[in-house]
Amino acid sequence: MATENAKKKGALDWYFKTNLLRRILIGLVLGAIVGVVLGFFPDAVGPYVGAIKFFGDLFIRLLKMIVVPVILFSLITGAASIAPSRLGRVGVKVMVYYLLTSAFAVTIGLVFANIFRPGLGFNIIGAAGAAGKAAAAPTISQILLNIVPTNPVESLTKGDVLPIIFFAVVFGLGISFVKDSKNDKIAKGADTLYDVCNAAAETMYKIVGGIMQYAPVGVFVLISIVFAQQGPKAIGPLLIVTLTVYIGLLVHLFGVYGGILAINKLGFIRYWKGANEAIITAFVTRSSGGTLPITLRVTEENLGVPRTISSFSLPLGATINMDGTAIYLGVCAMFIGYATGNPLTFNQQLTVVITATLASIGTAGVPGAGAIMLLMVLESIGLKVTEGSAVAAAYAMILGIDALLDMGRTALNVAGDITGTAIVAKSEKELDLAKWGK
Ligand code: ASP
Repeated sequence: MATENAKKKGALDWYFKTNLLRRILIGLVLGAIVGVVLGFFPDAVGPYVGAIKFFGDLFIRLLKMIVVPVILFSLITGAASIAPSRLGRVGVKVMVYYLLTSAFAVTIGLVFANIFRPGLGFNIIGAAGAAGKAAAAPTISQILLNIVPTNPVESLTKGDVLPIIFFAVVFGLGISFVKDSKNDKIAKGADTLYDVCNAAAETMYKIVGGIMQYAPVGVFVLISIVFAQQGPKAIGPLLIVTLTVYIGLLVHLFGVYGGILAINKLGFIRYWKGANEAIITAFVTRSSGGTLPITLRVTEENLGVPRTISSFSLPLGATINMDGTAIYLGVCAMFIGYATGNPLTFNQQLTVVITATLASIGTAGVPGAGAIMLLMVLESIGLKVTEGSAVAAAYAMILGIDALLDMGRTALNVAGDITGTAIVAKSEKELDLAKWGK
């Protein structure tokens, strides 16, 4: 009995003393192995998922719980502590970076799809019917207007990130003006309000640290479920799509981000060491929005970006900067073209660059959102997903492996937000270079 207790204590000790990243990686690898093995016993998958899903859902819920308060409080304090003109300049830089890298990402996706030609020779003909997910994709003007909340409290309860960002920035700016009020009492009140928001933001970060202690378990469960359910499917004809997407993602990570960092004299290895906790969390949760608390923490603690910049650029990035999704959209549009015997013309591919960039901006940072935006891209090149059509059948195939593709694209989405944030902070001379070994 005594030895058993000692053993238990030893395991717990080991758990809490081992470096978090190592534990997460162990969860990831074990989860993948268990999932792949289970995938070969289809009858066991259902009961396994039923039994274990709770522990994965718990991790997602804990992260989701903290997202809105983290964004709200860190952004209010961020906006209140930066001069409005600087906020404007940082905003423009961040937006330019996000837009350019996304357009680049689609192009990379298209280039690799032209090389590997996923779907060529499939000759799918209609029937399978996949119109299930054919929800309407929003229009551009709708996306823009929706940034301004008609009721901030409603946006907070619904967790709509862009309106929350908008409101928090405006609120933070308001505080910074009121702090300078000539009326002492009001100025003091604004100071207190700022202090309260700041303390609330710190508290949220502490909670995030606590949630991360559970991450290895959550990671194990989530990964094992995805692999058990989807692994074997991707080994079939869709393997080449999966490979093309992942090659595009890796090239973008090392080539584009690595290049941008190198131009700014920042080392990729330091970047990776600082950022990987967030990137891996994005990989397993398939949600940039859900990963945001971690992204904020690592960017500040490991990469030395001040909160005045990260609290603005990261929530914005988690909502509109989706380079991984852009690559995925490019590759999948090409796949559907090839698979249905309508290879995309050069002009159609140009259209895809534009619509996929915009679609990636409109993609919500939640699991599977990119697959809905794929409809918008397909529509723009005349490939309509109508019930029973060949396009619908090809689209259904993509949906079948969406979770696998979503993991990689979400990881890159988050990696891109972190890169952009670090670069903008450096250009503002606000980056703590000591964290980068300088
Ligand atoms: N899951 C992705 C994200 O959260 C969005 C997508 O589905 O492409 O970044």
